[in-house]
Amino acid sequence: MGPMSEPHPATSENEKNVFDESMEVFHAAADLIGLAPRIRLELEQPDYEHIFYVTTRLDDRLVPLRDAETAGFADLVPSAFEGPGLTPLFNGKIIVRPEVLRSGALHVRDGHVRMAHRPGLYRIEPGGFVRLKGYRVQHNQARGPYKGGLRFHKAVTLDLFNALAAEMTWKTAIADVPFGGAKGGIRMDPREYGKEELENIVLRFTYKLKQLIGPNIDIPAPDVGTNGEVMAWLLRQYTDGERERHELRSVVTGKDVRIGGSEGRVKATGRGLAYCIEEWFNDAREPIAGSRFTVQGFGNVGSAAAEILTGLGALCVAVQDADGTVYDPKGIDVAKLQAHVERPDNLKRSVAGYGEAQAISARDFWEIEAELCVPAALGGAITAEVAERLRVKLVAEGANRPTTPEADLVLARRKIDVIPDIIGNAGGVTVSYYEWIQNKRMEHWPEAEVNARLERAIKGNYHLIQDIAANRPRRTADHDSRGFVLGREVPVRTAAMVLALRRIEAHYMLEGFSQ
Ligand code: NAD
Repeated sequence: MGPMSEPHPATSENEKNVFDESMEVFHAAADLIGLAPRIRLELEQPDYEHIFYVTTRLDDRLVPLRDAETAGFADLVPSAFEGPGLTPLFNGKIIVRPEVLRSGALHVRDGHVRMAHRPGLYRIEPGGFVRLKGYRVQHNQARGPYKGGLRFHKAVTLDLFNALAAEMTWKTAIADVPFGGAKGGIRMDPREYGKEELENIVLRFTYKLKQLIGPNIDIPAPDVGTNGEVMAWLLRQYTDGERERHELRSVVTGKDVRIGGSEGRVKATGRGLAYCIEEWFNDAREPIAGSRFTVQGFGNVGSAAAEILTGLGALCVAVQDADGTVYDPKGIDVAKLQAHVERPDNLKRSVAGYGEAQAISARDFWEIEAELCVPAALGGAITAEVAERLRVKLVAEGANRPTTPEADLVLARRKIDVIPDIIGNAGGVTVSYYEWIQNKRMEHWPEAEVNARLERAIKGNYHLIQDIAANRPRRTADHDSRGFVLGREVPVRTAAMVLALRRIEAHYMLEGFSQ
């Protein structure tokens, strides 16, 4: 913690403050480069912290009864209703639209029903209004409009969004795209809602968000729990009724390619990570083909990274997600595993239950021997204890903040290399920038062009960071690190932050930018 910082209020005494923790690297790098005190003050807290609420109406739910609760209903006559108005959820509940209950012969006793076409008894949980908490933190805009994802997850807090928004400021600077940093979302588990309900939630959320965002103000994108469909709802709600609505398409990135999204955006984060990994293998003079990797998180980032790495000849030996872990030392067929996750009856969208690999415990996952481990789920996955057990040479961070500061020390002691998140997963925001330009110019670039630009951008910035870390000033065809090195070696995570701060600092120094 640097001398100028004020303590950020923690939610409880024991709870670790994620934001303060995330700023440790910032302060270390700021000290190293002698960042001017005013710039430090402007960067060490977010520009704006927005909190707001959205209310929405939910349909009734059918809640399965536990065996112990079924007494008294043995003779309940089955009700014959079925159809598209029933939506089974991952937690066993079924959303039921009112028209379904009106459609067939319904036999209700004390609010309970037995269904003719599905086993078991259900309690009808009446729908009604819920209130959800929404957030948007705008950290810094020295380099351009605020930019950052929307996360729909049960465990989000203002503290977490502050940390993630600041990370976006560093990441957009490292990717050298003309944006600042932001992050936001809703505290909820999107899997608990039907599609129509989710759409209504997003529309209300966007209604509240509208005054805060805009193509040149703040540009959201997908993150955990959101996707292209959510971005499409946001786009519609933002542009509805606007006469020049096509001019506003760039208000959000990560859209479906058919409505202005960029080719290559969906896999861009995983692809960018794979480019960094490729360079790590090049530098180590080891072949990536035949190397083994494990991946935690098989959502957007994890599955794309796994697909691209196996395309380069690497073997995916284990995959872990929130509901299971699968292992095959001979290599998992990533495409088949993806098909398993996407099966309509796989309501948890989990790798659990995949028949062609061995199920192992969550704990054993971290001890699998491989060349590299790709954390691509949530923050804090690699604790000091996990770091002690890892049997890999490289941790390539696809997720945001997967490695705790204590784990970082363990990895350094054990000589396990790290590709830090702020360069490792910068591919997403880089192609988001390409999407934004294409929207502004009313253009559509082919995927090969997007990927080629991404590869140049990621690898050039990756080399800059490696040079800063190794104190190796040099100029090559794709990069020039002479103005960035510090005259001494620094950890690679600090090196990445040095690059970010140098680029942000220029706006304060040369333009005299001030908040
Ligand atoms: P996603 O929602 O598509 O997938 C998340 C995955 O993590 C799922 O497979 C889920 O099962 C798994 N997971 C959740 N909790 C877990 C747990 N406790 N243990 C193991 N696995 C768990 O999300 P995503 O978009 O792939 O994002 C993953 C990470 O990458 C996040 O940290 C996100 O901030 C970061 N990121 C995403 C993008 C992007 O473009 N989507 C860009 C940069 C960074």
